[in-house]
Amino acid sequence: MKRASSRPIRAGNVTIGGGNPIVIQSMCATRTQDIDATVDQARMLHSAGAGLVRVAIDSAKDVNALAEVCARVPEANLVVDLQENYRLIAQVAPLVSKVRYNPGHLYHHEKQKTVREKVAFIAETAERNDIALRVGVNCGSVDPEMDAKFAGADEPALDGVTAMVESALQHCQILDDLGITRYVVSLKDSDPRKVIAGNRRFASMRPDVPLHLGVTEAGMLPDGAIKTRIAFEQLLTEAIGDTLRVSLTLPFAEKWREVEVGRQILEDIQAGRFRSVPRDFGEGLNIISCPSCSRVENEAFIDLAFKVREMAAYAQDYNITIAVMGCRVNGPGETDDADLGLWCAPNFVNLKRGEEELGAFPYDTVLDRLKVELDAIIATKTGVTTA
Ligand code: SF4
Repeated sequence: MKRASSRPIRAGNVTIGGGNPIVIQSMCATRTQDIDATVDQARMLHSAGAGLVRVAIDSAKDVNALAEVCARVPEANLVVDLQENYRLIAQVAPLVSKVRYNPGHLYHHEKQKTVREKVAFIAETAERNDIALRVGVNCGSVDPEMDAKFAGADEPALDGVTAMVESALQHCQILDDLGITRYVVSLKDSDPRKVIAGNRRFASMRPDVPLHLGVTEAGMLPDGAIKTRIAFEQLLTEAIGDTLRVSLTLPFAEKWREVEVGRQILEDIQAGRFRSVPRDFGEGLNIISCPSCSRVENEAFIDLAFKVREMAAYAQDYNITIAVMGCRVNGPGETDDADLGLWCAPNFVNLKRGEEELGAFPYDTVLDRLKVELDAIIATKTGVTTA
């Protein structure tokens, strides 16, 4: 299962790749500025066995909070998820052991600068501070230029995979040109088939680059663990993957389960215990939901995700995807492929059906409207109106 071909990358007290044991990592879902809650969750994830604990940063106030979190849980080997404000790496790099940037998010600030200039700033800051980088590409928020360039390049079931892989390869080339080698790459989607296809393709082209595996927005248990297991079984048995995260929508007090599920999957694969992958995997109702992070706009999101699943249970035999996301930044894009998409704001929930935005609804009425839309989709598919 070890992927000896990838180069070893040190991040704090762990080494990723180079045939080292696979590092399980996780991420705090708390608001970073809620220092006590973030410290508690970082401690919980570390105690559960996370080799790296990630925290999201998007403002100077987040950076100040991070400094205190680092001081209070130095053992957690903290890493940072840079959001749009990539220049914050200058403040966070001295505090943490690794920083992730998303190539699809480099467009929001300083539009006059090129991607290459922004990556150079990130990479040189990381190198000066002796920390590792992750190029974290998500199919749902891929660089718009790559998205346009490779539109239609994939069969429908794998739509977006080529743009995701090409974006990762482009950033590897920029880093290579800068002489930076201390980086890992991730290629994630909520559909395990895209995760498998993207990582296989990337690994065949860049076997030297360590891979961080994950099925993003995998949803709630047990489905989220099953989707993740399917991807990890396929990839890890081909020796693809050096570190991993399981992304689950969980109450904050149970966030440790992300680490536990990751460990269980690894143990099962190591022991040769595989779950069969049914031919019709992916048929029926599919609910995807994000694991939440410091960006979540109202913690009622987690409750909402569970209620959506409960309400929609009657539709389990229909090939319908419902996506539930925690914020207005990534929600619109991450729900693009769903039949019905919801993304949360502080006091209301946005709803769309396919590409049509249906409006914003209070938390206590959005389920009623969602059900109306779900019934309408079922009626279109079957020609039968449900009661
Ligand atoms: S959709 Fe928003 S809240 Fe959910 S994980 Fe992504 S950034 Fe965080």
